[in-house]
Amino acid sequence: MNHDLKKLRLSVSASLIPWFEVHQRKMPWRRNRSPYRVWISELMLQQTRVSQATPYYLRFMQKFPSLKKLAEANLEEVLKAWEGLGYYSRARNLHKTAIVIRNHYGGRFPRDPEKIAALPGIGPYTTAAICSLAFNLNLAVVDGNVIRVLSRLLAIKSDIALQSSKKEFQTLADALLIKGRAGIFNEAMMELGATVCLPQNPDCTSCPMMHVCKANYDGSQTQYPVKQKKKKVPKLVVGAAVVKKEDGTVLVAQRREDQMLGGLWEFPGGKQETNESILACVIRELKEELDIDVELFNKIICVNHAYSHFKMEMHVFWARIRSGEPRAIECKNFKWISLTDIRSLPFSKADLKVIDAITEAD
Ligand code: SF4
Repeated sequence: MNHDLKKLRLSVSASLIPWFEVHQRKMPWRRNRSPYRVWISELMLQQTRVSQATPYYLRFMQKFPSLKKLAEANLEEVLKAWEGLGYYSRARNLHKTAIVIRNHYGGRFPRDPEKIAALPGIGPYTTAAICSLAFNLNLAVVDGNVIRVLSRLLAIKSDIALQSSKKEFQTLADALLIKGRAGIFNEAMMELGATVCLPQNPDCTSCPMMHVCKANYDGSQTQYPVKQKKKKVPKLVVGAAVVKKEDGTVLVAQRREDQMLGGLWEFPGGKQETNESILACVIRELKEELDIDVELFNKIICVNHAYSHFKMEMHVFWARIRSGEPRAIECKNFKWISLTDIRSLPFSKADLKVIDAITEAD
């Protein structure tokens, strides 16, 4: 081990871990650590901040207090509990994994990292988190916070967007890990990144590692981590309709499970094609998806939403059926539902904004 790493390891034991023991934030998943609780909290925290994840976590645990309860639930209940968190494939994999553990491991999480990594939707980060935080196995967790802290401590100039850099950071974190104290080491590194070594304004004077930090030494903190500029994200324009019947019910379609947002419900519609008006797009999409001809009325709302790889601008109109009876052609299912009952189904964030708009208008 080189000299810099040796110095860092000493400082981790002597300063970082004692700092964490005093300053760690209280979080519901830090009580009664179990692999199930670690798994759920880590999946939620991969996509949202602690303050947003906490109410979701508490509600989820109330509804599915154990892996057994999660395995017994149907997918729609799980999606409903995940509604608004985004990345719905994680919720689908969560449900699949609970069933695999019930069927193949007697309902208890395996302790073997290889077996954990083979479960649906569990990657190296989540495997290391479960193994270290629940079983105290010697695996280092590397997330965005850890990468930022390490890159500053050691002034690492590698571009973190590259796969080779991810391996480099993993090797460094593995080398720094205090054997036998993996859980607390990982939490302390992540907590330092989340609360002190912040992306824009790191609070170096409060940092337990300031005396061994290279970026602090030369004042170059905000130059790390090094990351190539992102390419511009594409924007999709989408047209959709709230088709209403005289009895006040509206038509919703369920997305196929092999699609993005699979299993969620939505107002039918789809992507605008080149040189197509948005009205023509809605009419074509409803014909293709449900085999109905519709007449469009007022515009209800234009929803802008950012997904991880693209932005979406969705134009939504009131509509009624001119001819035809709905059939599930390019969707898994469809139903007519009252505005009173509509929130019992799981929807994406964008469609929830449409629901807000039509229930306010009703
Ligand atoms: S001294 Fe500053 S830059 Fe270095 S690890 Fe601590 S907070 Fe981050």
